[in-house]
Amino acid sequence: MNFRSAGVRLVALYCALLLVLGASFAWFTISSFDRYMRETITSDVDGRSRMIWHTAKASLDDRAALAQLIDQRFLPEVREHFIRISEKGRVLYQSRIPDGTDVTALQRAGIRQGNPKSDAQYGALLVNTRTFARSDGRQVTVESGQSEAFAEGFKHSLMRSMLLGLPALLVLAALGGYVFMRQSVRPLEVMIDAAEAITFNDPGRRLPLARTKDRLEALGLALNRMLDRLDAAYQYANRFSVDAAHELRTPLAIIRGELEFIAGQDQPAELHEALTNMLAEVQRLSELVGNLGMLSRMDSLWGKHTHQAFDLHALARETMDQMRLLAEEKGVELCPLSGGTAIVVGDRNRLKQVLVNLIDNAVKYTPSGGRVAVEVLQQGNRARLLVRDTGIGIAPEHQAKIFDRFYRISTDRGETGSGLGLSVVKSICGAHGGTVDVESVLNAGSTFRIDLPLGHAA
Ligand code: ADP
Repeated sequence: MNFRSAGVRLVALYCALLLVLGASFAWFTISSFDRYMRETITSDVDGRSRMIWHTAKASLDDRAALAQLIDQRFLPEVREHFIRISEKGRVLYQSRIPDGTDVTALQRAGIRQGNPKSDAQYGALLVNTRTFARSDGRQVTVESGQSEAFAEGFKHSLMRSMLLGLPALLVLAALGGYVFMRQSVRPLEVMIDAAEAITFNDPGRRLPLARTKDRLEALGLALNRMLDRLDAAYQYANRFSVDAAHELRTPLAIIRGELEFIAGQDQPAELHEALTNMLAEVQRLSELVGNLGMLSRMDSLWGKHTHQAFDLHALARETMDQMRLLAEEKGVELCPLSGGTAIVVGDRNRLKQVLVNLIDNAVKYTPSGGRVAVEVLQQGNRARLLVRDTGIGIAPEHQAKIFDRFYRISTDRGETGSGLGLSVVKSICGAHGGTVDVESVLNAGSTFRIDLPLGHAA
């Protein structure tokens, strides 16, 4: 669980609030119950003292009749009440002392006289003492007590229920809150997934809107408007690249033709060398312009080019045969193709460009005496192409960047390209729903891996 997430913090806050409210409610309920029971018992015993006096005052001189009268009228044994009637410290009647009473304290307190009304607690027994005067003036003390044990038991069971119920309520509230929170951020998650899936190969795609008529819907609308603006800017830049590449191609071809013509004439050695250098640069420029055009078209033609099913293994063999001479000239061994048939659906010419770029790089960045090996295989539902070399390798900090446009590590490594070859590879793979990545160890070699969705033979 992510404790920094706003949702989780909200649920935690809401649970803490619930805990405080629940605990206050439990405390309030229990203390109110306690007060209510005490007040009820106090008023009961007080009222009973007076009733006992009215019932007993005529029979005070006959102790047997008094005991019978009190036992029948007030049932102290059955009701667990305590009744004691005394005159000048002499007990005229006393019922059984209920369980839970602090008997020693009750006895120590003795029979108080002269105090018209008082309440005292002896353990669980609450005793009300009242003093009444007989017709001849003698003072009689009536003590009426009631055990609080039942009320205490009830209070404890109430406390137990609260103690058990409160955590259960908290757990339920936390779970409910978490589920509710997940559900409320669900539209956001849908938007995040959709945003992650948006690429410039799929320009028309927009975020799904949560029709909640609140800030969430407003956020989706604002992001979609931003995507519209970005898309327009991207399309503009793309059109510019395509047009520029198109406009540059013809003059470059003319310059190249003219330079080749001049280089073919007799001229001093220095001039010939300068012309050869110019031709090499014009050649590089033409390739760059061609790659730029290809990249822009690849981006805007997603889904429109004609796809066909073909065997990637056969395409790799054909490409390797055409590039073998290049490798031999460099003194690099192009090992026999390994692996087996892997049918893919796509633009054969563009995927051939991928193979050419990767094998060309492998040969270019492998010193003479090294080896380049190509393998095509099926891996689950993907077709995999591996181009391995024993060349100069790529340091880890450059590995993620070499697929960026115009990225070249350093010209000291013998790079003569434009830095566009691998971005063309990435773009073509992306347009076919595939991926490209690299594993490399500096001064030991590199392995480029292409994964494409597997197709079915036509
Ligand atoms: P370039 O046209 O300059 O070769 P790429 O886009 O094809 O441009 O490659 C980008 C950079 O990646 C190159 O400048 C090179 O340093 C590095 N690179 C590409 N392939 C390899 C390889 N097989 N071995 C070592 N470095 C490589």
